[in-house]
Amino acid sequence: MSTCNCFEGMEFGGEKKKVVVVGGGVAGSLLAKSLQFDANVTLIDPKEYFEITWASLRSMVEPSFAERSVIYHRDYFINGRIVTSTAANITDAEVLTADGESIAYDYLVIATGHKDPVPKTRAERLELYKAENEKIKAARSILIVGGGPTGVELAGEIAVDFPDKKVTIVHKGPRLLEFIGFKAAKKTLDWLKSKNVEVKLEQSVNLNSVSDGGKVYQTSVGETIEADCYFLCTGKPLGSAWLRESLLKTNLDKGGRLMVDEHLRVKGHKNIFAIGDITDIPELKQGYLAQNHASVVAKNLKLLMAGGKESKMASYKPGSAMAMVSLGRKEAVAQFPFMTVSGCIPGMVKSKDLFVGKTRKVMGV
Ligand SMILES: Cc1cc2nc3c(=O)[nH]c(=O)nc-3n(C[C@H](O)[C@H](O)[C@H](O)COP(=O)(O)OP(=O)(O)OC[C@H]3O[C@@H](n4cnc5c(N)ncnc54)[C@H](O)[C@@H]3O)c2cc1C
Repeated sequence: MSTCNCFEGMEFGGEKKKVVVVGGGVAGSLLAKSLQFDANVTLIDPKEYFEITWASLRSMVEPSFAERSVIYHRDYFINGRIVTSTAANITDAEVLTADGESIAYDYLVIATGHKDPVPKTRAERLELYKAENEKIKAARSILIVGGGPTGVELAGEIAVDFPDKKVTIVHKGPRLLEFIGFKAAKKTLDWLKSKNVEVKLEQSVNLNSVSDGGKVYQTSVGETIEADCYFLCTGKPLGSAWLRESLLKTNLDKGGRLMVDEHLRVKGHKNIFAIGDITDIPELKQGYLAQNHASVVAKNLKLLMAGGKESKMASYKPGSAMAMVSLGRKEAVAQFPFMTVSGCIPGMVKSKDLFVGKTRKVMGV
């Protein structure tokens, strides 16, 4: 476990409230940054950096891209304590880490979205992108397992940057991008086909039954796929397993999400909030919405810490079904509430910079 501790002086008239934020992803990082001068904030995250998740596939084809999308927590969170560890349990007053530390809180915010086994240090993360890039460059044929946003965006990046490579996506569902609408899935399929990406739907790959020196893969319907390497893009598990035996075990819904009220407090707990993908809010799980959750909770905590009335707390309204999936460097498919479009116009919005400049600005770096 490593910690970094740097606090501004005490608040006039008394000590600041202790706020512990668990999870340094899109939601937790923004919340820690937003409260750092109003409270005594501790951020717990197993890695020493915040990563702009939606930029990660570009970093696989262009590793230097990660220099701007993998950001040390200390670069935006300059006035607080960073605990580089995993939260393992909570009581009604403390968070216990996997390294055996207990960290007291007045207010707790859970933002553990998805669990991703990425390296602990930024340097190791950048090295991993270089290694993945070498793997792509060395392969003539690439198998992508999973046709959700990660698999589709990776296929798009490879198809545009390395048009000579044979890319195959195998997806077990009936269509790509099942988290958004049929139109978006169809436009994406057409685009991938136009770039010679082969898409096999309603099939899965048994990665343990590889033959011919690790190059021939069998699918569940008996087809064979030849590929020099593969990437597993089947989605990450929710980061809530650690709560199953905790104080909040009855606050998890069947899918493992934390049930929150309109103020984003975990139901039945006055001083525990949850934000981001871990919540059961009925909306698409998107980073821009996770950032909105962080803004609402920052407002509510500032109010409560200043002695404001609970009845004055801000409420959160679920977001509309908007999402954008990039297709290489220039194109994208975008779903809006009443329209789905693809091509260069949504591409101009997302695909060139993948919102890295905008996100860095929000984070003040
Ligand atoms: C390919 C792809 C493209 C996307 N594109 C977009 C896009 O264009 N726009 C958009 O708005 N959204 C996009 N999204 C969705 C977006 O990435 C997520 O909605 C967002 O990351 C959710 O943020 P979060 O903070 O809730 O969770 P995460 O970003 O998953 O962060 C969770 C954090 O919690 C930490 N953690 C987990 N367990 C523990 C624990 N026990 N103790 C301590 N820390 C823990 C993790 O290490 C991580 O840092 C995309 C997602 C993917 C996969």
